Amino acid sequence: MIRVGMFIEDRYEILEKIGSGGMSDVYKAKCHKLNRFVAIKFLKPEFCEDKNFVAKFQIEAQSAAALLHPNVVSVYDVNEYEGVYYIVMEYVDGITLKQYIDRNGRLPIKEATSIAIQIGQGIEAAHNANIIHRDIKPQNVLISREGKIKVTDFGIARTTTANTISQDILGSVHYISPEQARGGQVDERSDIYSFGIVYYEMVTGALPFDGDSTVSIALKHIQETVPPVSELINNAPTSIVRIIEKCTQKKPERRYQKMSSLLADLKTALISPNEDFVVLEPEATENATIMMSARDAQRLREEGTQANQRRIVRQQSADEYETFNEFDDAYDDDYDEYGDYDDEYDDYDEYDDYEDDAYDEYDDYDDDDDFIDYEDYNKKKPGKKEKDPARKKMDKIILICGIAVGIIILVVLAVVGAKALKGGCGGSGKRQQTELIEMINVKDMNFVDAKAKLEDLGFTNVEAEYVTSETVEKGKVIKQNEAEGSRIAGDTKIVLQVSSGKEVLSLENYVGKTQTEAQSALRELGIQSKITTRYSDQVETGKVIETNPAAGTQISKDTVVELIVSRGPEVKNATVPNLIGSTEAEAKSALQELKLSAQVEYRETSSAADYGRVVQQSHAAGSTVAEETTITIVIGVEPQTEPPTEPPTEPPTEPGGDEPGGDEPGGDEPGGEEP
Ligand code: ADP
Repeated sequence: MIRVGMFIEDRYEILEKIGSGGMSDVYKAKCHKLNRFVAIKFLKPEFCEDKNFVAKFQIEAQSAAALLHPNVVSVYDVNEYEGVYYIVMEYVDGITLKQYIDRNGRLPIKEATSIAIQIGQGIEAAHNANIIHRDIKPQNVLISREGKIKVTDFGIARTTTANTISQDILGSVHYISPEQARGGQVDERSDIYSFGIVYYEMVTGALPFDGDSTVSIALKHIQETVPPVSELINNAPTSIVRIIEKCTQKKPERRYQKMSSLLADLKTALISPNEDFVVLEPEATENATIMMSARDAQRLREEGTQANQRRIVRQQSADEYETFNEFDDAYDDDYDEYGDYDDEYDDYDEYDDYEDDAYDEYDDYDDDDDFIDYEDYNKKKPGKKEKDPARKKMDKIILICGIAVGIIILVVLAVVGAKALKGGCGGSGKRQQTELIEMINVKDMNFVDAKAKLEDLGFTNVEAEYVTSETVEKGKVIKQNEAEGSRIAGDTKIVLQVSSGKEVLSLENYVGKTQTEAQSALRELGIQSKITTRYSDQVETGKVIETNPAAGTQISKDTVVELIVSRGPEVKNATVPNLIGSTEAEAKSALQELKLSAQVEYRETSSAADYGRVVQQSHAAGSTVAEETTITIVIGVEPQTEPPTEPPTEPPTEPGGDEPGGDEPGGDEPGGEEP
């Protein structure tokens, strides 16, 4: 359950509920990572349980996330929290255009037009990215406090199931294009139609079509001409009237073909609203449609059963397509699918409900003189109104067509939705993006280059899935989910497995551990080590002083860790100087300077020149000894008449025993000379 005050992923703090739609609850939240407010749309629990729906929802939201435009609500993130799916979006502090119109009534032409231009720019950005909104309505346009216009819910409208249809379509059906209402092919021009209705509503403060149910409204979009704006408001500027008329043409090819040309007209209208510059395509094929309807009337009469009537009506709506100026292969596909729907249509559980609703719907027309009783046609109810037979026949056809198409609309929408969900994102064969594209091999390419190349080919949904690899360089594609050469829809989710480089781990702290402990711990992790030793006054011999790299560094498995192990305190050496001939004081200070200790002995000598001077040293000059070694020096003294107590007559014994006493420095052994 989402509650105010809770945190999502330690990042988003839920602040307040700001809205609720057909399939979601929307909360204002604070992103503590980027320190900004966001809006989070949480999918309602009943939709979260449907795995296919969720998959579709995520894919659509991800494609919307790629859209970056000032007039589009940015999608920052799509994720799941404890089974609840959510979209994190730019927070728009403001109200919806629907609320704005409800509060203010019809808007001044200039204001309506400049809002329309901003909406149009947002839609144009999406169209340029091959995203069709499919649910343009003022509820999906947000106006910020600063007056910025932002379109939201891109692509998400496509995530439609029988469940969402019943709820969401209520808000959307007022803006639905005729081809969408039929369950036919939807492209940019469908958004242009819905845009036209939104503009109409801004300019007039009213909707062109209303009714008691979704079916009756959808039917009007299929059958009835949008009343000219000039009939509703006084002094309606010519260009505005014509732009709305062109946007809301029944046939897509009579509308603006591109948002860019509509935007160009809107901008001109802002400057010269009364100029008649909008070019409308001439009407050419209306009669043909009626002729076909009449033909079908004959068939209807001949084949009396209701099932046959349904089938014929479906055929007829297909025939109507045939009267379009451009009858291309895409439409052919549509018709083939009609065949498929036939089967599903008969099986479809919800059909009966829709059928009943649609028949109830029919009662709406009872009061309308232009229509006759449907029940009469079905011989179910009495109560026939008298009319001119030719007119009656035509009316019947139009009515039966309308109602049955209405049924088909909903059934087909549901079936298309279900089909799309079953087949993943490539499921609907009727979208422009589902043109098949041949997959190429992108293995070993850099992900960024691979994605760009695939997008150039028309793939709109390319994603990376990062895995560690000891062999493939970071950033390169290891695998692709779609095989080279397979022909797939452009919006198929293409997942490229990309190397995130070698597996990394954080190096543990081995300082103070014994060399053996550290080595075996690293060996267990599969990491090699090498040993370097160093003197240390602080660290015990044999223990780790430091490691290279240092503890905490991210390393890969092939990093060789250097263990720097203590050899204990460093022992320094000194070179023994030549002390022979020095005075006792000189010798002592020289030794002290070299951190050597001095031990003094005395010996009688015959040479007066040696009195008081070093005549012998225990360690030879030039020899290397450890610091603190004791060096014995022998100082010459004058012989005494009485036997002296000191110095001894014997040569000094070798101190420490580490140097041979026989060292004869310079051969000038004083003791060797006879006095
Ligand atoms: P759903 O897609 O389920 O129909 P809506 O898109 O209609 O939901 O969102 C419900 C309400 O939440 C909107 O009417 C609006 O008031 C609010 N809302 C939606 N998106 C945002 C946003 N990005 N910033 C601020 N408020 C938003």
